[in-house]
Amino acid sequence: MTCIFCDIVSGQAPARIVYQDDLVTAFRDTRPIASTHILIVPNRHIDSVNGLEREDAGLVGQLVLVAKQIAAEQGVAGSGYRLIMNTGADAGQTVHHLHLHLIAGKLARFRLG
Ligand code: AMP
Ligand code: ZN
Repeated sequence: MTCIFCDIVSGQAPARIVYQDDLVTAFRDTRPIASTHILIVPNRHIDSVNGLEREDAGLVGQLVLVAKQIAAEQGVAGSGYRLIMNTGADAGQTVHHLHLHLIAGKLARFRLG
């Protein structure tokens, strides 16, 4: 089974990577919906939030803390941003490798739902 986000993490697919460590990788969304739109993903393949186990608590924490760091680096920590994890069909999840959207800028002020 091929997974585009696994390929980005391993360097086999191109991406505009903004951060990488031993747990997570962050890269720019190719179809941004706001001036800042970055995806933070676990390096290990996990389908969605539904695939998380209790022992992944540190990994989930790292996803959010890296999002916070990138928000500061992008200059949007004060103005505000959204962190979104779409899970499953009704949420519109299209890539089945867990990812946290970091969305900021004027267009981020869309209504959810
Ligand atoms: P979701 O709807 O939550 O599954 O979001 C998947 C996101 O991945 C969408 O915003 C896509 O634009 C984005 N995406 C899909 N393929 C790539 C890729 N190769 N590089 C960067 N972003 C991608
Ligand atoms: Zn994957």
